[in-house]
Amino acid sequence: MDFNKSEEHLAIEASIEKFARNEMAPLARELDEKSEFPMELWRKMGQLGYCGLLLEEKYGGSNLGAVGSVLAMQAAGRGGADQGTCLSWASHMVIASLNIQTWGTEEQKEKYLPKMASGEWIGAMALTEPGSGSDASSLTTRATLKGDKYILNGTKMFITNGPICEVAVVIARTDPEKKGASGCTAFIVDRSMPGWYAGQKLDKMGMRASPTSELVFENCEVPVENVLGPVGMGMKGVAFSGVNWERTILAAPFLGGIEYNLEQCIKYAKEREQFGRPIASFQAIQHKLAEMAACIEAAKLLVYRQAWMIDHNLPCIKETSLSKFFLAKLVGFIADEAVQIHGGYGLMKEYPVERFFRDWKLASIGGGTSEVNKNIAAQLLLK
Ligand SMILES: Cc1cc2nc3c(=O)[nH]c(=O)nc-3n(C[C@H](O)[C@H](O)[C@H](O)COP(=O)(O)OP(=O)(O)OC[C@H]3O[C@@H](n4cnc5c(N)ncnc54)[C@H](O)[C@@H]3O)c2cc1C
Repeated sequence: MDFNKSEEHLAIEASIEKFARNEMAPLARELDEKSEFPMELWRKMGQLGYCGLLLEEKYGGSNLGAVGSVLAMQAAGRGGADQGTCLSWASHMVIASLNIQTWGTEEQKEKYLPKMASGEWIGAMALTEPGSGSDASSLTTRATLKGDKYILNGTKMFITNGPICEVAVVIARTDPEKKGASGCTAFIVDRSMPGWYAGQKLDKMGMRASPTSELVFENCEVPVENVLGPVGMGMKGVAFSGVNWERTILAAPFLGGIEYNLEQCIKYAKEREQFGRPIASFQAIQHKLAEMAACIEAAKLLVYRQAWMIDHNLPCIKETSLSKFFLAKLVGFIADEAVQIHGGYGLMKEYPVERFFRDWKLASIGGGTSEVNKNIAAQLLLK
């Protein structure tokens, strides 16, 4: 594995970090407090070409690949301190746009991807339901073929970008006779199709700039040409194929977030004085900083390696499962130590470590919980 960054990687990293420091970071606290997505900023990101990092050039993207996109999203997390916006951004690029690029027909790609690359249309992916989370394959949303349309009925839960999306990749059951992952199909649903709406925006502990909601389908009419991938392959094809990408690109803003936290702690430890000297002079604080730095290096290696494997078309389900739960541990440890170093001030909203302490928790839940990822890794170890 080559640790040298290409010219292209260095350029996109520098550009996104500068943007994040100048444009995202100043808004982060207010967006968190108001639980608001920065739509104006998003439009700017679209103009700068940031919304289609994984898409091919012919659809308006920059085709950065996994390593390039990890470096870009890490830079966003490092500079912007706004994990919520990064979550919406990464979800739009990976579980919505990339799934359409991977599984779509040329007609579907031409219709949807240029508008998604430019940020004009925001994407979502709707798999989880109120009764099916970790056991996603037990989903009950039904899609029934009637003439040249599928009629969708059911409710999706916890959908990132639900309230703001124009397009959603939706997984529904087309064959009720088949249980589990079989008999499910993916659809591209857009706002021109009647019969679907977002439920109320959910009020979350963290990631508050990223809007989350239910998506409700009531006799929603989806033309047959909007089936994504083969009928019956919604879970086994579309949903499962994107898992490695999801666990890689969505991890990247957390990498930047932990770097940002360490930066904040070093600054604070040098400024804050107790017992007549900066707290940075206490060995207990120095050890915390050293441990945080070691965890950051370990986290980076885990995510870079799986990104490199994806770019080299190597199977990496074991690597991404191991990394998913271990990264969550590292990120949680750093979030905790960052607040500890800030003492009482660490609990105050004016310090970004407080926000990260709430945001990081999604790392152990979203896109497959830590327990489920341990199950997958253990099955592979024991087979
Ligand atoms: C902010 C946010 C954004 C999200 N965005 C999206 C999105 O865009 N699209 C989408 O489709 N979904 C999304 N999700 C859903 C997310 O993927 C699920 O929350 C996650 O898969 C867990 O499902 P659950 O919440 O129903 O928990 P459950 O599956 O009910 O799990 C509850 C607990 O039981 C444990 N558990 C469950 N099964 C096992 C088992 N077999 N062995 C051991 N332990 C087990 C879990 O690890 C967990 O600790 C989002 C969730 C959140 C919170």
